[in-house]
Amino acid sequence: MNNYKTDVIIIGAGLAGLTAAKVLKSAGKSIKILEASDQVGGRVRTDEVDGFLLDRGFQVLLTAYPETKRFLDYDALDLCKFDPGALILNENGSTRIGDPLRQPGTLMSTLRSPAGTLGDKMRMLGLKIKLAGKNIDEIFSEDQTTTLAYLENAGFSARMMNQFFRPFMSGIFLEDKLSTSSRMFEFVFKMFSEGDAAVPAKGMGMIPVQLARDLSAQELIFNQKVIEIDGSRVSTLSGSVYEADTILMATDQLNLPKPYQQPVRSYHSVTNMYFTTPEIPFSKPLIALNTLPGKLVNNIAVMNQISQAYSKNGDALISLSLIGDYAGYNSSELQSNAVHEMKNWFPEPTAWKHLKTYHITYALPDDDQVTNEPDSKVKKLHPNCFVCGDYLMNGSINAAMKSGRLAAEAILSTTF
Ligand SMILES: Cc1cc2nc3c(=O)[nH]c(=O)nc-3n(C[C@H](O)[C@H](O)[C@H](O)COP(=O)(O)OP(=O)(O)OC[C@H]3O[C@@H](n4cnc5c(N)ncnc54)[C@H](O)[C@@H]3O)c2cc1C
Repeated sequence: MNNYKTDVIIIGAGLAGLTAAKVLKSAGKSIKILEASDQVGGRVRTDEVDGFLLDRGFQVLLTAYPETKRFLDYDALDLCKFDPGALILNENGSTRIGDPLRQPGTLMSTLRSPAGTLGDKMRMLGLKIKLAGKNIDEIFSEDQTTTLAYLENAGFSARMMNQFFRPFMSGIFLEDKLSTSSRMFEFVFKMFSEGDAAVPAKGMGMIPVQLARDLSAQELIFNQKVIEIDGSRVSTLSGSVYEADTILMATDQLNLPKPYQQPVRSYHSVTNMYFTTPEIPFSKPLIALNTLPGKLVNNIAVMNQISQAYSKNGDALISLSLIGDYAGYNSSELQSNAVHEMKNWFPEPTAWKHLKTYHITYALPDDDQVTNEPDSKVKKLHPNCFVCGDYLMNGSINAAMKSGRLAAEAILSTTF
């Protein structure tokens, strides 16, 4: 037995666990993080492959998130922004929907865009104004319906739904029925309206790297999958046993150790394919949305148009996101079908070189019912055992970090 006694053992070095570690350490507590994988970040990681930076699943940091503002040094992350709005890819080619309030230069193209009626654009403006006047606590205390019902009740036309809201929100919620809670829609729409969608210059993985920068090798131990908690002891798959006054479980919902495992009813999956080509398919730093019925690819981004560091040699790095789990599919067929769809808008996509495909089975928890604050019974499972993670609130970077902070604060207020 390896008996390394500390104040708090944190199981999992995702954003929730790392945020908790930061709060506990700055309050003077000794901590040890046991992480099952070989790196920090959990669902937010970046790999370097052949000189390209590949985020494990397309994702963005919304700079208006309160928790990221609180804990991250945006300047040091060297954030690179997407332009507001989206490039709509449809049967007639492409059209731009912008956010004229944040980028006045897009006013005319947005008004002229056939993606929605003038009424839709006015309703969009009305939604922005309404949400600007509503704080996050108010949003999360509203009754919940589905995002689909919410947008239909707001009066958006079927065209606006199909050309913008459905593909845009599917790319965020990672589900295409828009069954995700209306609270989540309001929260995300507010965050998009009040800040930027951005990636750190050197990839999303720099977010957890920054959170972990003050942790020593004794405090952050990799390749230690915790399989069981027994009072103040935790045992790992490799046979080590660690001991602490308090245990904080910061795993995802699927990988909670014994005896705290729980049935997981549903979650959202995504498939992210990366291709490279010397020709840039489109030059604006925008998320492009495929609006064709029965499509495979939902959204497209050219990552080195956002940050040049994503491609060392300057070739375009194209990220295609497919909503759902395609792990069981024939991979070359999947690649060729995805690329085939791109022929509608881009020259020679069949010449694109496939770099890597990520099948992310557990990407987001089911967000049909969401909250912005887990209740205290959930945070504290036992006198010395606490829990945090996005699934306790909602699937977002903000929620993961907030749940880590709240769990750390609960530990500090009840156990020391
Ligand atoms: C493809 C994708 C796109 C996304 N897009 C966005 C977006 O655009 N904006 C946004 O805000 N959010 C987005 N999210 C959601 C966001 O990334 C997550 O909500 C957040 O990263 C969850 O953090 P977490 O710490 O709660 O969990 P995780 O990141 O899952 O961390 C859990 C950690 O625990 C470790 N672990 C698990 N079991 C054990 C064990 N038994 N012992 C030891 N360690 C263990 C894991 O290895 C992992 O490191 C996206 C997620 C994905 C996957």
